[in-house]
Amino acid sequence: MRIAMISEHASPLAVLGGEDAGGQNTHVAELSAALVAAGHDVRVYTRRDAVDLPVAVRAPDGYEVVHVPAGPAEPVAKDALLPHMKEFSHWLTGRWRGGDWVPEVVHAHFWMSGLAALAAGRQTGVPVVQTYHALGTVKRRHQGVQDTSPARRIGYERELGCAVDRVVAQCSDEVGELVRLGVPRSRMTVVPSGVNLDTFAPLGPAVDRDADRPRVLTVGRLVERKGFQTVIRAMALVPDAECVVVGGPPAGLLETDPYARRLRALAGTCGVADRVRLVGAVPREEMGRWYRSADVLVAAPWYEPFGLTPLEAMACGVPVVGTAVGGIRDTVVDGVTGDLVPARDPQALGDALAGLLGDPARRYGYATAALQRARRSYSWATAADRLTEVYAEVAAVRRPSRVVA
Ligand code: UDP
Repeated sequence: MRIAMISEHASPLAVLGGEDAGGQNTHVAELSAALVAAGHDVRVYTRRDAVDLPVAVRAPDGYEVVHVPAGPAEPVAKDALLPHMKEFSHWLTGRWRGGDWVPEVVHAHFWMSGLAALAAGRQTGVPVVQTYHALGTVKRRHQGVQDTSPARRIGYERELGCAVDRVVAQCSDEVGELVRLGVPRSRMTVVPSGVNLDTFAPLGPAVDRDADRPRVLTVGRLVERKGFQTVIRAMALVPDAECVVVGGPPAGLLETDPYARRLRALAGTCGVADRVRLVGAVPREEMGRWYRSADVLVAAPWYEPFGLTPLEAMACGVPVVGTAVGGIRDTVVDGVTGDLVPARDPQALGDALAGLLGDPARRYGYATAALQRARRSYSWATAADRLTEVYAEVAAVRRPSRVVA
C-alpha cells in the first residue's frame, strides 16, 4: 500500500532526548521501517524546522521523509504549532490532489497531525487513521495549570475521534480515557507500539560500569512528569546502588539545563549526589549499550501514554520497576516481568528497588520473562501486520467522493 504518516512535530530523523523528541519519533521511525520491510511504500510528512532541510530525503530504512513548509523554518515548541496546521494541510492537499503519489491511507500521529490529515483527507478522499500518543485530558489532570497545550486541544481530540476512519489506541488505559472523552469504542483498535528486537537484545556491548555497585537506570526526556525526582528520592532507600539518568540535552549542555540542575540539587539534599549520574542525551543506536549495563530499569512517570523505555529494557533482558500508569500497566506484568508501584511514591519505589536488587533469583526470573514477553508480543513486524489490516479495512470502505474541484 501507499501509506502516508503525518508526524507534525516529531521527525523520525530527529535526535532524541530533548523536550519534544522522544517516543513518538521512535514510533514513527520504527513503524515506517517495518512497513517498508513488509513491502509497503511509506512517506512520512513532518514540519520543516530548519532552512537547510531538503524537501524530501530517503531514510536508510527505505521510507521517505518529506519536510512540509508550515510556519517558520526553525524549531517551534509543539504547543505553539496549532496555528500552522492549516498551512500543513493545504500543502498536503496540494500534493495529493492530482499528484503522482497519492496515499491509499494516512496515519496521523498526535492530535495536531490528525487535524491536518483529516482536512487533507476530506479534500482528497484519503481515509484517516489516528493515533494520539498522548491525550489532553490526561495531561490536564496531571499537570493542571502547568499544561501549556492549546485550550481547544481536548475538544479537538474528541472531534477527531468521532470523525476519523479509525482510532488506533496503544494500550487499554487509553481506550478507557477515549471512551470517557466520548469516542465510541467501536471506532477503536488497540495496537501497541513495538520494540526493535535487533537493536534491543540481551547480547551485545554494554557501557562500562562498576561491577560491585548495582546499577539502576532510568531513561527519558528531562521533564517533570517523567518522575526523576521520585527516583532520586527513592535512591536514599537503596544504599549501595548507583542511579544513571539517560536523556535530556546533550551532556555538554546539562550544566545549564534548569531541570538537570534541580535534579542535582535534589540528589544533594537527599544525600545521594555521589550515586546519581546524569549522562544527557544518548543517540538511539547506543541505547542498547546503556540498557545492557543495568540491573534494573526504573520508569517512574506520573502518567505515560505508552512508554517505550520499559519495553526496550525488557527486550534487553532487564527487569523493570515501573509506576502502574498508562501503557506500563500492559507491558510490565507485575510480579512476572517486573514490579509495579504507585506513581509519586518514593517509599514504595525505594522498597521495590531494594527488594529486587537484594534478590538475584527473582531478578533473573523477571529478566527471562521480560525478554520472552518483549519478543513474543511486541515486535514491530507484528505491529506493522496488525496496522496493515486496519489500513486495508479503512481503505476498502467506499467513501463518497469528497474531492472538491
Ligand atoms: N531516547 C533516546 N535517547 C535518549 C533518551 C531517550 O534514544 O537520550 C529514546 C528511548 O530509547 C525511547 C524514546 O526516546 O525510544 C522515549 O520514549 P518513551 O515512550 O519512553 O517516552 P516519551 O519521550 O515518548 O515520553
